[in-house]
Amino acid sequence: MKIAIIGGGAIGLSLAWELAGRSHGVTLIDESAFGRKASWAGAGVLYPANFETATHPIEQLEAISNRVHKQWADQLMKLTGIDNGYRECGGLYVAASPGEVASLVGSVGYWHERNVAVDFIDAKAVARRYPDLCPKLVHGNAFRAAYTPQESQICSPRHLEALESACKSLGVQLRPNCDVQQVRETTNHVAVTIASSEHIFDAVVWACGAWTQQAIMRCMQRQGPDMVPVRGQMLLYFLDQRLDLPIINKGNRYIVPRDTGHVLVGATIEKVGFDETTTEEALEKLTRDAHELIPALTPGKIVKSWAGLRPGTWDAFPYMGKMPACERIFVSTGHFKTGLQLSAGASLAMADLIEEKTPEVDMTPFDPSRVLI
Ligand SMILES: Cc1cc2nc3c(=O)[nH]c(=O)nc-3n(C[C@H](O)[C@H](O)[C@H](O)COP(=O)(O)OP(=O)(O)OC[C@H]3O[C@@H](n4cnc5c(N)ncnc54)[C@H](O)[C@@H]3O)c2cc1C
Repeated sequence: MKIAIIGGGAIGLSLAWELAGRSHGVTLIDESAFGRKASWAGAGVLYPANFETATHPIEQLEAISNRVHKQWADQLMKLTGIDNGYRECGGLYVAASPGEVASLVGSVGYWHERNVAVDFIDAKAVARRYPDLCPKLVHGNAFRAAYTPQESQICSPRHLEALESACKSLGVQLRPNCDVQQVRETTNHVAVTIASSEHIFDAVVWACGAWTQQAIMRCMQRQGPDMVPVRGQMLLYFLDQRLDLPIINKGNRYIVPRDTGHVLVGATIEKVGFDETTTEEALEKLTRDAHELIPALTPGKIVKSWAGLRPGTWDAFPYMGKMPACERIFVSTGHFKTGLQLSAGASLAMADLIEEKTPEVDMTPFDPSRVLI
């Protein structure tokens, strides 16, 4: 089949790679450079999940994604020579207030129910194993912690670079900085107008992240799926000495040590429309929180800050499947806070849908028609 994917973030790039691997002729189109929006901004944390005990398709998709990310890291390395930073680094969840403790106990209970490896660790053991964590925090009265060995990470910019390079190797037609003007489905094909010239495809997939709704409105003159952009601001530190820590999670904050000496600190969760700028107030708060957790993270070690727009949806589930009243036009978007993780499983499921095969996961909860008019 000849397939066009519009939007080259993690979702579009992963699907392009998967479809090209299944011998389809794929064209990947983006209005700017590939992989520079939410996917570049994301931390790349892959949360633990267990397919066997999952009670919802979204959890199954997370578990499939974890399995696939592990395989992809090797395949991408072999094909492109790029290490995408996949590491099974584990995750430490810490709580220091009654509210945080209640939330931690809830999360641990959820993982226990699903047979996901997790253990509470006492403060003494935390202090011994992780001396970089703030001693005042660890020895505080309300302190509790739990460790999940299966939490992993990918380095988002390197992962995207590897995917783009892999797509190129498999013959994907890459069209960055390309303005799609119209998408029109007819009986046997989809016509995509780019720079006033029409290109014919057997199927088209919209994967424009937070911008999917407006892109569909502009190019198809019809209602697309309701999108809720959710801004996340992030800080990047560089330390002379690599932090020997798992991913540290506390409330809405996470600290992700990379093995290059870089450390990511994130992230805010803000509904401010399509505003991708950072704010002094949020960055100061992130800076304070980071220092309180890990004293080595001082303001002088910050090398970069940025904001990205997570593609949120009204019910927090992604839209994946055919657009209503369409046979050949699909949507894959709305993966919100876990789009880097889900991109792997989503690409398998979407490729199956396009090939009219039955995906491993029941895709009904993700049907875009659940909200479209
Ligand atoms: C601060 C932050 C931290 C995050 N941390 C994590 C994490 O730890 N783990 C995790 O799994 N997820 C994380 N996420 C979420 C994850 O990054 C997103 O869910 C995911 O990247 C969405 O991918 P996407 O391809 O749908 O969107 P995007 O990456 O935004 O890509 C959309 C693409 O569409 C293109 N586009 C837009 N309009 C058009 C148009 N009209 N025509 C053509 N192209 C168009 C854009 O240029 C862009 O390249 C985080 C997100 C943020 C912001």
